[in-house]
Amino acid sequence: MQAEYLYLLSNKMDYIINFASLALGEYRYEFKVDKTLFLEFKVEEEDILDADIVFNVLMDKKEDILTFNFDFNGQIKVLCDRCLEELPLKIKGKDTLYVQFSDKDESYEDDILFLPFDEREIDLKQYIYECIYLHIPLRRVHKEGECNENMLRLIQEKDDVLEQEVDVRWEKLKEIKVN
Ligand SMILES: [Zn+2]
Repeated sequence: MQAEYLYLLSNKMDYIINFASLALGEYRYEFKVDKTLFLEFKVEEEDILDADIVFNVLMDKKEDILTFNFDFNGQIKVLCDRCLEELPLKIKGKDTLYVQFSDKDESYEDDILFLPFDEREIDLKQYIYECIYLHIPLRRVHKEGECNENMLRLIQEKDDVLEQEVDVRWEKLKEIKVN
């Protein structure tokens, strides 16, 4: 099997693979993903503080189908839900995307992307983004004991003050009712 290695190191949000010009065979690509990818998809700035992920793509080009095997590994930084301090998270995963050619317009069903016969390239940006985003845990907290104690105390004090304010308001309401 013919194997050719191409390394596209890109910081310019260029995740395009021009498959039409390539002979049948396997091709390997490496994309660097940083925070700008998330900003482009309008993920809130405070949601992803930083990202440093290497995204490997192995493309197998056959006559009638393209198979993309994704394998990614790296780290992102988010805010801890509990102490609101920076929390590094390891991001690691694999995924596969199949591309078939058809008379139809571009469409997506199950794991298969259908492209028109005359399509020459594929922009993987959307898939790379989704792959990574789906691997970010919903609950983002430091391990037990690793939260910033000072921040936890401050947050607790603020909550206490809010509770007291609510209590004071309730007392006033009760007074009004009594009178
Ligand atoms: Zn924390």
